[in-house]
Formats: sequence, C-alpha cells, structure tokens
Amino acid sequence: MKTDQNNTIEETTIAIIGAGVSGLTLATFLRKSGVACVVVERRDRAYTETRQRAGVVDARAVKMFEHWGLAEKLLSGPVAQTIDYRLNDSSHIFEIVGEDGSPARFCTQQMLIVNLLKELIDVMAGDVRFDVTDVIIQNEENQRPQITYSNASGSHELICDYIIGCDGDRGVSRSSIPDSILTKYSHEFGYAWLAALVEAPVTGHPIMGISDHGCVAQLPRGPHRSRYYLQCELSDGSEDWSDERLWNEIRLRLNDETIKNAMVHDKFFVPLRCVVYSPMQYRNLFLAGDAAHLVPPASAKGMNLALYDIDILAQALLSALQNQDTAALENYSDTILPHIWNYQDFSVWMTDMMHDAGDPTQHGTFRQMTARARLDNLFHSPTAARLHSEYQRGTN
Ligand SMILES: Cc1cc2nc3c(=O)[nH]c(=O)nc-3n(C[C@H](O)[C@H](O)[C@H](O)COP(=O)(O)OP(=O)(O)OC[C@H]3O[C@@H](n4cnc5c(N)ncnc54)[C@H](O)[C@@H]3O)c2cc1C
Repeated sequence: MKTDQNNTIEETTIAIIGAGVSGLTLATFLRKSGVACVVVERRDRAYTETRQRAGVVDARAVKMFEHWGLAEKLLSGPVAQTIDYRLNDSSHIFEIVGEDGSPARFCTQQMLIVNLLKELIDVMAGDVRFDVTDVIIQNEENQRPQITYSNASGSHELICDYIIGCDGDRGVSRSSIPDSILTKYSHEFGYAWLAALVEAPVTGHPIMGISDHGCVAQLPRGPHRSRYYLQCELSDGSEDWSDERLWNEIRLRLNDETIKNAMVHDKFFVPLRCVVYSPMQYRNLFLAGDAAHLVPPASAKGMNLALYDIDILAQALLSALQNQDTAALENYSDTILPHIWNYQDFSVWMTDMMHDAGDPTQHGTFRQMTARARLDNLFHSPTAARLHSEYQRGTN
C-alpha cells in the first residue's frame, strides 16, 4: 500500500460496492475461497444490521448456503412451507411442495446480514469498509479497473481486477455504465404497498389476503413481530395512515374483528414496480441484486434473485481467477437474465392476481373474476400447484 498524507493507493482482486445481502454474500464466498476482496459501504455497520426488509430465504438459496457449508451459521428461523390465501372470509392453505432439498426459511434479511457480517468480519477477518463517500468507478478498456472513495481518514484508490456493483437501485455502479450500452425495461403497477412492522407475531400461517377492500399480507419477522403490507394509493403518505386507520383496515380486509391493535414500529410506502437493466456487465464491472433488477415485494423474490446472481457470479469469478477460464464471466449477463425474466413474470402474475382478485376499482370486475379463477386453480389443479410451489421455492 502506498500512502501520502491524505491519499492511499491499494490493490485487491475484487472490489465490491455495497454491503447489502448481495455484496456480503459474495464477499463471504470469495473470502472462503481465498480470494482477496474489499467491500465499501456508505452506511455504518449498525445501520446495515438493522435495515428491515425481506423475510424469506427461498429453498434454492438455502441449498446454495448449504453447498458453501454456511447454512447453519447464516440462516435462522422456522421453515416456510405454507401460505394462507384468504379471499374475503374464506381461507385456503397452500402447501409449498418440493421433491428435493431443504425447504425455504423464514430468516429475516437483517438477521442474514448480521450473521454474514459476523462470519465475514469477526470469523474470517474480511475487509468491509463502512461510512465511505464519493465512490467513483474507473472502468476503462485495457486498463485495470479501480474505485476511488473517501472516508474519515482521507481519499483512497483501490486498484483491482473486477468491480462488483452490489449497491442497490440507487447506487453508483449502474450509472457508471454508458446509456448507449444499458437498456432499462420497467413496468409500473399503478399502486403502492404500505409496509408496517408491528409488535405482533403471525399466529397461524403467513397470510396473503385478497379482499374487496384491497390486498393485505401478514408475514413473519421473527418470533414477536410481523410485517403487514396493505395496498394503497401511490400518492399516500404517513399523514394518510394513522395507526388507528392501519388496524381498522387490517380488520376490515381480513374480515376479523378479533385482531387487536399492537405497537407499530415503522411504516413506509413502496410503489410496486418491476425493473430489469440489461446487460448486467460492462468491461470489468458486474452488477448483482437490486442494482440490476427490482421486483415488487408481493412475490418475495427480490433478496432471492440477488442471491441467485451471487451464486452464478461467485462461480464465474472463481473459474476466471483460479482456472483462468473467463467464459462464465463473459456470459454472466446472458446466463442470469433468463432466470430474472422468468421471476419477473412470476412477480407480475402474483402481484396482478393478489390485487385484481380483490378491489375491482383499478381493473374492473372482468379481471377480478379471471384473477379469482387463477387463484382457485392453485387449489384444484396439481399442475398449477406444483408450478406455483416451484416458483415459491425458487427452483423453476
Ligand atoms: C419493504 C420491502 C420488502 C421486501 N420484501 C422482500 C421479501 O419478502 N423477499 C425478498 O426476497 N425480497 C424482498 N425485498 C427486496 C430485498 O430487500 C432486496 O431485493 C435486497 O435488499 C437486494 O439486496 P442488494 O444487496 O442487491 O441491495 P441492498 O440490500 O439495497 O444493498 C445495497 C447496499 O449498497 C449500499 N450503497 C448504495 N449506494 C452506495 C454507494 N454509492 N457507495 C457504497 N455503498 C452504497 C447501500 O447502503 C446498501 O447497504 C423487499 C424490499 C423492500 C423495500
């Protein structure tokens, strides 16, 4: 490492931008394989460990962690094998079936992050640099790539072989790719979800509630809490949703007057949309996770698609670095994107069904009836049920 007063110049093999689920999983796999890497993250460790988001690691991702010998250390929480699809006052328990491998786990995203950081930093002595600012990517043809960033100790240059953009939808990695290279494909659903973390556990099965008054879901977030999602207007904000209104709507949409108000820890609003950026690589920069694609939370696939990217990318990087075979890396985007489009289709299917089968205000009663027929199919056609299970498990 070269140092002048306020500037350091270092080398590593792989620079990862973002210590979310994709960046930390990749860094852990690389570190376990003996590959040098540095993760730079704009937030502090405490913030990344407490950011509440996803709650289910699907069966495919569980299998990936098992393959790396890390499932026991990283994953916690009960298995996720049922969903209660409620249609107004009727309840239909869907059993997610799979012939091989372990089932999905209710492991919250922040628990996975806490465990990844513990494993990567505290056990493997991995290099994660928090609180960085002004990350800039240099990714010129025929030159070693590098990132520059600043932190409390000054400015830094990190020269590397590959840069991995794991910095989410609002990061810097994707925007370093020229517009002439990148295509954005997107779909807006026209409504939002209010996401509320409450001090009340799921007492039966996780619920996907379809109601004439709008969609509602209740999913576990640890032993004492759950996350409620309520369909709402795109323009809605906190001022429109008092705690009292939230609980009244939950009771109304689940048709259950026995549900009691509980403490609401946080509320935020997520516009429902699907986005894919293509290609997911440019020269020596590779995108993974939300930096490259977004799905609405209705499908519970965002974190799992990020983990899928990392599964493929980690193998491709190891093949290039350890066997000097760059074919998988060169084909990374082409390998990943068919899977991403497949799960975009599932997300659209799931989101449309959940919303159209309920309140007909947006798409009318014809779409309401076809969406209900689609839902009904899951409980009467073993073929439809099996396909749905495969998507839920992440194995399709
Ligand atoms: C309300 C909600 C509910 C969800 N529910 C589910 C669910 O049930 N199931 C599911 O599978 N998915 C779900 N998701 C999606 C899931 O949370 C994301 O897909 C997942 O976080 C993607 O991981 P990532 O590592 O790609 O990005 P992120 O988790 O966004 O991590 C990106 C990291 O990069 C850092 N960063 C950003 N910019 C910079 C920069 N310039 N320099 C350095 N660091 C930077 C960020 O601080 C962050 O730590 C949900 C999302 C939301 C918002």
